[in-house]
Amino acid sequence: MALQKLIVGNWKMNGSVSFVRETLSYWQTQNIFHHTVICPPFPLLPLVKEQLSSPFLSLGAQDCHHKSSGAFTGNTSANLLYEIGCQYVLTGHSERRQYHAETNELIKEKAEMALANHLIPIVCIGENLQEKEQGKTLSILNSQVAASTPSSGVDFCVAYEPVWAIGTGKTASLEDIASAHDALRQQLGENIKLLYGGSVTADNYLEIFSLNNVDGVLVGGVSLKKEDFSRMICNESAIHTQ
Ligand code: PEP
Repeated sequence: MALQKLIVGNWKMNGSVSFVRETLSYWQTQNIFHHTVICPPFPLLPLVKEQLSSPFLSLGAQDCHHKSSGAFTGNTSANLLYEIGCQYVLTGHSERRQYHAETNELIKEKAEMALANHLIPIVCIGENLQEKEQGKTLSILNSQVAASTPSSGVDFCVAYEPVWAIGTGKTASLEDIASAHDALRQQLGENIKLLYGGSVTADNYLEIFSLNNVDGVLVGGVSLKKEDFSRMICNESAIHTQ
């Protein structure tokens, strides 16, 4: 069976109106093959949505609030994200955990709120460098999954993103990715999509795709480079045959 991969582009706090116009009109000329989710900053969501030109392109947000509405200045509800056309939302990205002190418990509430509002949460987990050096990777992942993924429902994704690999140019080794993803598969079962993130590029993603339990990738920096990202989302040779 041929499987398309899921490729998620996280623009973080980057992009502009002109960047959206230029990038999305470039993609209109490309033959997109993989299911691709674009996660721009909140104000750009409607503009990106308007210009999605392929059935393989979907919209995602970078975060949502854990409550449905109320006096939470500066936050955005899952329901509103759904209403404006989002299908996915990142929860618990390491930058949210680090700079906004988000806990596993809060991330779980966000993921459950996303599911309740017809969004597919992409729950991000990953060990830091010290934990890796202490050989604690698999136990950290196990406890993050237990505490930050939704209690029920199968329509969510988990992104394994070693904190030390995000935005650093240091990708985890194929052995490390394989052992983390095999353990996650055992814990989560066959129905949950497992993504890897951490300095994925147009030059290394094919070997990551070749691993058994990798269903896709979460891409930060390279998702802002329109030609490089196109090489990833259009590449039919990356079909994994089972
Ligand atoms: C990310 O933003 O989740 C990420 C993995 O970034 P980068 O690809 O730049 O390491």
